[in-house]
Amino acid sequence: MAPGPSLDAALRVAREFDLPSDQVQRGVDEFLSQMAEGMAKNGTNLSQIPTYVTSVPNGTEKGLYLAVDLGGTNFRVCSINLRGDSTFDLTQSKVAIPRDLMVAPSYKELFKFLAKQVESFLETHHNEHFEATVRRRRLTGTTDEYRREEIFDLGFTFSFPVHQTSINRGTLIRWTKGFDIPDAVGQDVCLMLQDAINELHLPVRVAALVNDTVGTLMARSYTSPGKTETVIGAIFGTGTNGAYVEKLNRLTKLNTKGEPAADATQQMVINTEWGSFDNNLSVLPNTLYDQQLDAASVNPGIQMFEKRVSGMFLGEILRLAILGLAKDATARLLRGDGTLIPTDSPLYTPWGIDTSFLSVIEADTTSDLAETKAALFEHFKVSNASTDDAQAIQAIGHAIAKRSARLSAIALAAILIDTKRIDTDETVDIGVDGSLVEFYPKFVDYIREAMREIKGIGEKEKKVRIGIAKDGSGVGAALIALVAHKGYAIESR
Ligand code: ADP
Ligand code: MG
Repeated sequence: MAPGPSLDAALRVAREFDLPSDQVQRGVDEFLSQMAEGMAKNGTNLSQIPTYVTSVPNGTEKGLYLAVDLGGTNFRVCSINLRGDSTFDLTQSKVAIPRDLMVAPSYKELFKFLAKQVESFLETHHNEHFEATVRRRRLTGTTDEYRREEIFDLGFTFSFPVHQTSINRGTLIRWTKGFDIPDAVGQDVCLMLQDAINELHLPVRVAALVNDTVGTLMARSYTSPGKTETVIGAIFGTGTNGAYVEKLNRLTKLNTKGEPAADATQQMVINTEWGSFDNNLSVLPNTLYDQQLDAASVNPGIQMFEKRVSGMFLGEILRLAILGLAKDATARLLRGDGTLIPTDSPLYTPWGIDTSFLSVIEADTTSDLAETKAALFEHFKVSNASTDDAQAIQAIGHAIAKRSARLSAIALAAILIDTKRIDTDETVDIGVDGSLVEFYPKFVDYIREAMREIKGIGEKEKKVRIGIAKDGSGVGAALIALVAHKGYAIESR
């Protein structure tokens, strides 16, 4: 049977999201040049931020640490016991960040909320410790005259662009992922949290400021099989970003004050902030739907790579594409007899489609796409969608996610080429984290497929190992808190 009108039109839209090999290649070339620019000066698309993390773990690290993670969608609090044999125990709690705290005139409410989560975590999971120290500190009003071993060192995973000046100091450069709290920009991120923690007299020291990409890199390096050190940590969650191990002497912008150049063996983890790769759109694809999404976002013109790749945006791109087709009378999408879209359908609400919907429809292998139809009804109140409609939506969702994976390959491949890691005989390990890469079917396979098409990678793609850094942000933050306060771990020594 020939495809019906809605499927024909949808396949045309799906093709708009194709990213052919030559465009991937141009992306890599541009990424390489923007990396170089970011190493030499400030204010570039790729910020190439020094993280002050100068070594990666090998699995023997030990100790008990607290970690918190402000991701974009959720806030997690956890305690991690590193066992020193590449394994760990982790206890965690997770809450969704209330929308009204993400866009607010003052940062105080948000950080107060975060500190309260830490408080209830300690009460629930470390009650003995909590009772003993908090009661006393509240009685005496003490905040800094305490015995060091009573204090938890906390790694703060803060996944927004920060100008970092030491392991636990850094000011917010800009908000991303829909956050907008103007008075926080330019403030020290650790101090905002430490102040809120001190208000509650909690026995917690913010010891390290951690970007989630760096945490992922560290966690993967601690847990990854064998002796191989991890080269890249990458996030594909609400947002996307990556960090990698770089030779310090290539970071020439650090060396503007006439300091002697770092010696050739010194390394530092660099946070690329690749979400802002190619903000000027010299190589990135730019469909009508990308343009609509950007225009309606809180930060038009910024994070243009992220807006084509990460979880916060893929659902919205699909929504805009569906709406475009549904409005087009000749396309006949969702216009069959008996098909009904009520006016209060989330299809009509900006950000109304969560990217998890793309995973659900991609995984639907039923012959009449019953699961897709059920999801259309359940999430969007669309009743009696036809099989053609379901196929149409599946095809577009697939194309959007595949484009995202192929764009992701650009960033990963460029770093492997730039650092020459791909040219050694060893396995190249990449740690990844985030719901998109974890749950979207075959996301990593699509990345690998695109990598093989890139000059300088090709067959060598086989040497690349890509693995999820499970609980990466917690474990990674613990590892960095450990590096920051080596010797002051809370465990009895
Ligand atoms: P964070 O970015 O806060 O650390 P996650 O890594 O869980 O959190 O990413 C959340 C993002 O992932 C959201 O944008 C959400 O739409 C998307 N997401 C959640 N579940 C899935 C899924 N099953 N498949 C694809 N994307 C998902
Ligand atoms: Mg995350």
